[in-house]
Amino acid sequence: MHKVMRIVVIFLLVYGAALGQKKEVAITIDDVPNVLLNERYHHHSLLLERIDSLSIPVAIFINEHNIQKSAFQKENLEILTSWIKNKNITSGNHSFSHINYADTSFQAYQLEILKGETLTRSILESLGKKLEYFRFPYNSLGKDQQAHERIAQYLASRGYTIAPFTIESEDWMYNALYEDALKKNNHTLARQIWLEYVSFTLKLFEYFEQLSALRFGRNIKEIYLCHDNALNTDYLPQLVHKLAIRGYSFIEFHDAVQDKAYLLSDTYPGRAGFSWVYRWEPDPAKRKAMMVSEPGNPWLYNEYKRLTPGGPSK
Ligand SMILES: [Zn+2]
Repeated sequence: MHKVMRIVVIFLLVYGAALGQKKEVAITIDDVPNVLLNERYHHHSLLLERIDSLSIPVAIFINEHNIQKSAFQKENLEILTSWIKNKNITSGNHSFSHINYADTSFQAYQLEILKGETLTRSILESLGKKLEYFRFPYNSLGKDQQAHERIAQYLASRGYTIAPFTIESEDWMYNALYEDALKKNNHTLARQIWLEYVSFTLKLFEYFEQLSALRFGRNIKEIYLCHDNALNTDYLPQLVHKLAIRGYSFIEFHDAVQDKAYLLSDTYPGRAGFSWVYRWEPDPAKRKAMMVSEPGNPWLYNEYKRLTPGGPSK
């Protein structure tokens, strides 16, 4: 058989087999609580309320320092407590103040981990639950292999599993544009931005389904990463609805990481914060090929650059 044809047939066999299988995703939300956003809703998390009405499990990753980001520390603590106590929520540590491990020392980062778990651990323990997950800010596991190994050992000694993700869709960039459009009362543009966010995210799900089919011959349990922001407060329900139409069911984070794929080693020794699907690929050339094939959105990058010439922040 012609080589190209053979590749196409193999792809159809593998991808076709995966098409018949169930699709599952765990939704994860970082940088909780967004206290400035909650102030707009009279010290209330509308995002948490919407997750409640969707009645889907969600894992959150907390920066306890956020409580001190406004004058309303008592209210902020109450909101954080309501997140942690909610039956749909699994709570994890995201470091105290969201620093990048690759830019700091091991000792300073240890303190960030310890300081970042104070309230969360005690609230969870009052509920008879354990604090099990740590997600690195920027998903940077350190500047080199030695830094990765050292912190992984430390986290394991504190009972943590490192929280992976497979899919993220730059929701923080879309959010910056969305907030700017709302501020300027440009509701047509705000609508264009959220529609774009939802459709770009679905495009990425499709891409990672294809990678999953090629690598595993099945759909792995995906983990979607997004943030506590205005965009998700207003449109996470839309995204969840569209994913459900695509065949997804929504599972606990704990269930997702039981998928055997997550037993694979993270073979990437650097500081970048990309998907675990790429980290599982030991051959840097193959990893790069997968990464450059990932759908991009030049419109988003250009608009974001125009809005924030000083550089990114999330
Ligand atoms: Zn974060």
